Amino acid sequence: MRVINFNPGPAGLPTAPLERARDELLDFQGTGMSIIEHSHRGKAYEAVHNEAISLLKELLSVPDTHEILFIQGGASQQFAQVPMNFLTKDTSADYLVTGGWSEKAVEEARYYGTPRIAANTVNADKRFTRIPTQAELQLDPKAAYVHMTSNNTLFGTQWHTFPDVGQVPLVADMSSDILWKPIDVSRFALIYAGAQKNIGPSGIVLVLVHKDFLAKGRKDIPKVFRYATYAENNSLYNTPPTFSIYLCRNVLAWIKDVGGVKQIEAWNREKGELLYAAIDRNAGFYRAPVEKASRSYMNVVFRLRDEKLEEAFVAEGAKAGMVGMKGHRITGGIRVSLYNAVTVDHVKTLVSFMDDFAKRNG
Ligand SMILES: *Cc1c(COP(=O)(O)O)cnc(C)c1O
Repeated sequence: MRVINFNPGPAGLPTAPLERARDELLDFQGTGMSIIEHSHRGKAYEAVHNEAISLLKELLSVPDTHEILFIQGGASQQFAQVPMNFLTKDTSADYLVTGGWSEKAVEEARYYGTPRIAANTVNADKRFTRIPTQAELQLDPKAAYVHMTSNNTLFGTQWHTFPDVGQVPLVADMSSDILWKPIDVSRFALIYAGAQKNIGPSGIVLVLVHKDFLAKGRKDIPKVFRYATYAENNSLYNTPPTFSIYLCRNVLAWIKDVGGVKQIEAWNREKGELLYAAIDRNAGFYRAPVEKASRSYMNVVFRLRDEKLEEAFVAEGAKAGMVGMKGHRITGGIRVSLYNAVTVDHVKTLVSFMDDFAKRNG
C-alpha cells in the first residue's frame, strides 16, 4: 500500500512512471539488460535521453533560443555554477532574497564576484512570509544577471507574477515549482531546477538557458562546469546519471499522457485552494503565516494556534496514511508539499482529517 506522500523533497512520484520502471527494470525493451546497465553512448539510452529533452521542449514550450541541459550536482551546485560562469571579480549580480535557498545562492556568488541584494523580504523574526512588490526591487541595470527563487520551499511563498528586470538577464531557481503550470520560458536567460521535487529522482538538475547568455559564459573555468560544454555535447560530455534521466523521462511522458502542464495546473490550483480553504475556515484553530497574495501552491505552510498540538497532528496524520507533514527544522509547524504527484483526492483526504482534528481538539 502506498502512502499519501507530502514530503518536501525528495518527494512522491506519480505511480505510473514508477510502474513503468518496475516493469522494464531487468529487461529494457528486449535488450536483456536494465537501462542502468546500458552505455550512455548506446542507442537504447540515447533514445531515452533525447525523448526526455524533447518532452521538456514540448511540455514547457521551450523556444529554439534556449538549450535544454541535464547537469549533475543538484540545485546547490547551480548556486555556484551560475556565478562561476557569469560573474568576475569586477562584476556584480542582483539577488532577490525570498528565503533560505536564495540566501545560500548569495553566499556562493561571493566566491566569484559581488552579489548585490536587490530585495530581501526577511522580517524581524528572521522569517519570509511574502514576495516583494515590483516597486521594492532596487535593480542595477548593469548587473550581470538577476537571480530569483520562484518558489520558496521552506517558508511556502511563491512568485505569481515574475519581476520585470528590464534588459538584465533573469536567472531563476525553479527547483520546487518547475512544471507546476505553463511558463513563458523566453522571459528567462537561465532556469535551473533540481529534479527531486517535481520532475523525478534526485541526482540531476534541469537547466534551460538562452543561447546568447550561454555564449557570454566564462571560458577560463574547468570544462565540466561550463554550461557551454553541456550544450555542445547534448548533456553527454561525461556519463550523466542515466537512471535519473530515464525516470524523469517516465514522469514527463506521464505529464503528457494526463493532458500536459495545463491539466497539471488545473489540479494544482484545485489542490491549493482546497487546502488553504480548510486552513481559513478553521481560522480559530489553524493559521497560515504567509500573506495571501504570496501563498505557494507547492508548499503550504501553517501552524496550529496551539503549537503543542502540532506533534499530535503530524502523528495522527501519519496513522491515517499521510506522511511528510512536519515543517522544516528552521520554520517548525506544518508543511504540506503539493507537488504534481499529489492528487486532488489526496488533498480531500487531508482536509477532512484537518476539519475532524480541529473539531476534536478545538
Ligand atoms: C530543494 C531545493 C534546493 C536544493 O536542492 P539540492 O538538489 O539539494 O541541491 C535549492 N533550491 C530550491 C528552491 C529547492 O527547493
